[in-house]
Amino acid sequence: MFFKDIPGKSAEKKYLIATVQEDRLAHAQLFLGRSGTGQLAFALAFTSYLLCKNRSDDDSCGTCSACLKTHKHIHPDVHFSYPVVKMDGKQRKDVTSNDFLPQWRKSISSNPYLDMNTWLDSLSVDNGQANINVKECVEIVKKLGLKTFEAEHKVLIMWMPEYLRNEGNRLLKLIEEPTDNTIIILVAEKQEEILNTILSRVQLLKISPFSDEEISNYLTTELNVAASEIDQITGLASGDLNAAIHLANQDNANYSDALFQWLRIAYKMEPVELGQWVIEVSRWGRENQKNFLEYGLHFFREYLFSLITGKDNIRLSPDEKETASKMTKLLDVSKTENIISVLNDCIGAVERNANPKILFLADSLTIGRIMRNANIDKNIYLV
Ligand SMILES: [Zn+2]
Repeated sequence: MFFKDIPGKSAEKKYLIATVQEDRLAHAQLFLGRSGTGQLAFALAFTSYLLCKNRSDDDSCGTCSACLKTHKHIHPDVHFSYPVVKMDGKQRKDVTSNDFLPQWRKSISSNPYLDMNTWLDSLSVDNGQANINVKECVEIVKKLGLKTFEAEHKVLIMWMPEYLRNEGNRLLKLIEEPTDNTIIILVAEKQEEILNTILSRVQLLKISPFSDEEISNYLTTELNVAASEIDQITGLASGDLNAAIHLANQDNANYSDALFQWLRIAYKMEPVELGQWVIEVSRWGRENQKNFLEYGLHFFREYLFSLITGKDNIRLSPDEKETASKMTKLLDVSKTENIISVLNDCIGAVERNANPKILFLADSLTIGRIMRNANIDKNIYLV
């Protein structure tokens, strides 16, 4: 990963480059930012820069013997640690990051802005009880105790230390008094879920969300997204580059069809049809479910805006506007607000790994009732 691959964020790049050039390296660092802000991309670009044998003023060279390995995530002095899940043929307590290294390299090569949902989806895990376990911590201490193989530094990139739980205390000594030439980079999204004992021992680098302009530049130059779609994707992603990448790879028209199909099925409440729809959606994977729900939120927010203001200068396609105009007989302001609230809660439940069949069945029933009745208390029907 090069620094130049990360859109914008020149202040963060300058700061990290200066710490290498001026030899001001902190041994334990925390790169913190909300989902899709590029903290892992920064950890990868920084590691390549640190180990590069021919670095320039602003990036790694990409061609020296170290870069050939760091850019493919196969350098023997760069260790990765990340939450993993159960694996066939092994007891859960014996599974460590190494068991999933091929999948990890593939995932971060194709999308270094990934979040937990993207990672778990790539492992085809339905309801992964992901964590970083005791055995992993023991192995980290062992690995970082070894001499370096090729480089001057050993680097540990730990993605999502939020999943360490109390096991993290086993790493405190290492973080406080690292072995020679060791750099530990923790890459996290939620500061409040990291052990305080760890937080107090690391140097913090906060990374801000991408601006709309940075995201739209990335969509144009890296993903060749059509100009007509840029505004909608950028608006939906709201600073989350991982979400933008997924939205760019999805056909929004499909989400639109799926949303209207859902509303029809929820309204009719025909049990067999509803059951089939719930099974289909539960197979989509969390990332896709979340993007679908985000699309639904976007649609209903725009619809609500046009209902309240009576204006039609909303960010919907002509087809979506036509459907929206047909809905006005069925969905008034209050019902629309209730549906928005159900979709918001549903996104939260998907993020918390709720069982998708139970979740989408319950929310279909709730949305069906909202559409049929003027006044209901939606909380009665929520899981
Ligand atoms: Zn190099």
